[in-house]
Amino acid sequence: MARSISYITGSQLISLRSRPNIAIIDVRDDERSYDGHIAGSLHYASDTFSDKISNLIQEVKGKDTLVFHCALSQVRGPTCARKFVNHLQEIKDDAGIKNVLVLERGFNGWEASGRPICRCNSVPCKSENA
Ligand SMILES: [Zn+2]
Repeated sequence: MARSISYITGSQLISLRSRPNIAIIDVRDDERSYDGHIAGSLHYASDTFSDKISNLIQEVKGKDTLVFHCALSQVRGPTCARKFVNHLQEIKDDAGIKNVLVLERGFNGWEASGRPICRCNSVPCKSENA
């Protein structure tokens, strides 16, 4: 069961995301709608995150690695990742999740490194992981 949270870099995420068993969880709030997002990422805003953890577990069924991020991944990203891990421990069901990761430097770092941004308005994002 995932108990600890590790950080990964943008380049590590690029190589990981070609795997089908990974989900990227964007926990930014309104910024997602005007700043764009990482292609294929799910949106679970930090302000309602706790209420929607069960929905998130349903949505990531079959995935074993979750990567959380917010704008900088300093507060909201790690906090939500921690809430998620605590929740799995509380319900005593790991839901098949083996790794809970946080994207270092968040969306802003991702964008600043020139990595691709999706600007679709679909919920969920329909874009394939590049
Ligand atoms: Zn999109």
